[in-house]
Amino acid sequence: MAKQPQKKMKHVPQRTCIGCQTVLPKKALIRVVRSPEGVKVDSTGKAPGRGAYIHGQRSCWEKALKGSLARALKTEISTEDRQALQSFVLTLPIETEQTSPLENQAVKEDKAI
Ligand SMILES: [Zn+2]
Repeated sequence: MAKQPQKKMKHVPQRTCIGCQTVLPKKALIRVVRSPEGVKVDSTGKAPGRGAYIHGQRSCWEKALKGSLARALKTEISTEDRQALQSFVLTLPIETEQTSPLENQAVKEDKAI
């Protein structure tokens, strides 16, 4: 058991974005839940059921919808649910990488292919 010197730091629940695999505070991510009615965006973050977390940016949702969301939720996403999720994605900004230095963005695009 290693002792952490930063004892004052508050524990913030962290989750992994299933699009880009970045670990972030839960609050920074959007939850998707597998409910009895299907796979939906959980705007409250409290809906019962298996959940997955995704960044509020399109690139992560696109990756998630291509496969990682279904894997994370251990279910298949119906055509209807997929369409609903895709229309949700359209309401999101294309990129919101406020934390990244400007120069890194072009490099990242190349690597993703
Ligand atoms: Zn992400």
